[in-house]
Amino acid sequence: MAYGARAITRDGFNSLPKMTYPGGLLIGCNAGTLNFSKIKGTHTAMKSGMLAGEAVFEAIAEGNEGGSELNSFSGKFKPSWAYDELFRSRNFGVSMHKFGLALGGAFYFVGQYN
Ligand SMILES: Cc1cc2nc3c(=O)[nH]c(=O)nc-3n(C[C@H](O)[C@H](O)[C@H](O)COP(=O)(O)OP(=O)(O)OC[C@H]3O[C@@H](n4cnc5c(N)ncnc54)[C@H](O)[C@@H]3O)c2cc1C
Repeated sequence: MAYGARAITRDGFNSLPKMTYPGGLLIGCNAGTLNFSKIKGTHTAMKSGMLAGEAVFEAIAEGNEGGSELNSFSGKFKPSWAYDELFRSRNFGVSMHKFGLALGGAFYFVGQYN
């Protein structure tokens, strides 16, 4: 019940915030990496976590202090398949909201396979 009652962060790419700040990172559903068109977000959350781990490891190896911003994360996340997947599915929520299930679904489908 507790799991099923969780809120879902659904707006994906269009709502992704800046994911780095001094001393920390917003990753996974905390940032909003769910692919709303599939209602799946485990894989993208894990990918953002793996890239965050790499960025933190490199920062520590370079001797950066804890409060510095992990700018290298963006350079890793943007070329990743997770970012690409979120970018490609970015119009799903807005299509459904604006045009409804049938028309919105058709609009999104054409956008995906055009
Ligand atoms: C009903 C439902 C069905 C879903 N089905 C699928 C599916 O079939 N496939 C799929 O890929 N995705 C699915 N998702 C999405 C998927 O669950 C999430 O995208 C994924 O779990 C996000 O992982 P995360 O690690 O970012 O966040 P979470 O899994 O939410 O993990 C965050 C963790 O942080 C903990 N936490 C929060 N605040 C604090 C705090 N202050 N201190 C310490 N800990 C804290 C929470 O208790 C939680 O354990 C579903 C989601 C829901 C709600």
